[in-house]
Amino acid sequence: MMIRLRIGHLYPDLMNLYGDRGNIVALRRRCEWRGIPVQVESIDPGDPLEPDDWDILFMGGGQDSQQEMVWRDLQDKRGPLLEAAEDGAVMLAVCGGYQLFGHSYRTASGQQIPGVGIFDMETVAAEQRIVGDAVIQSSLLPGRGTIVGFENHAGRTRLSDDAEPLGSVLIGRGNDGRGGMEGCVRGNAFGTYLHGPLLPKNPHLTDLLLALAMDRAGGDPALEVLDDELEWAAHEAARRRARRGARRLMRRR
Ligand code: GLN
Repeated sequence: MMIRLRIGHLYPDLMNLYGDRGNIVALRRRCEWRGIPVQVESIDPGDPLEPDDWDILFMGGGQDSQQEMVWRDLQDKRGPLLEAAEDGAVMLAVCGGYQLFGHSYRTASGQQIPGVGIFDMETVAAEQRIVGDAVIQSSLLPGRGTIVGFENHAGRTRLSDDAEPLGSVLIGRGNDGRGGMEGCVRGNAFGTYLHGPLLPKNPHLTDLLLALAMDRAGGDPALEVLDDELEWAAHEAARRRARRGARRLMRRR
């Protein structure tokens, strides 16, 4: 049976920072290169969300003002989103989207925004923004398991003791600014502060999401191997840039 992967892009016009839309491009292209039929649709404010309609759901980052614009609509979609997560739908939420997938986010101006609660975590904006290239390491990925990206957030996210982070920070500040852990994983839902866009430079992570989605959809999770020379060159370039940035920071201290 030919599986068609259905990808839902939550609020593409409002929640899209630093090329987050590139994550959708990476997911779509890696399906197309393998001959896996794929369909991408936007899910905008006011649209109904049927939990069974999606194999992968993605939400990008947004400034506080965008988060203030979408949170009410996201609350309307909270039930179906929790149902979809419970049922193993693959999810990726980046930065502002990641924060709204937790229990709550207190913005820089002090507004307490309720989240979906897929991730057992809370976020509070601090005065100082965290900005820079980042490298994390995740045991969920094959090989060295490094993930490269770019973080720019005021939010400090605290995971509950039971919540599982996506990885540990090699370079950068991570969830709470102290540089220990980054992101959160619950079942097939992944949250991270990393923009970049994230997936084009991290093909192993993209393929993990696709394999999980194929498996859940009843397809073959053993994905055809692609020639990822360019993707890994971009990954290595981002790693080197992050290392240079970290060294510069050390010298300034
Ligand atoms: N508004 C959030 C913060 O500053 C998210 C920003 C982002 O998505 N880059 O923490």
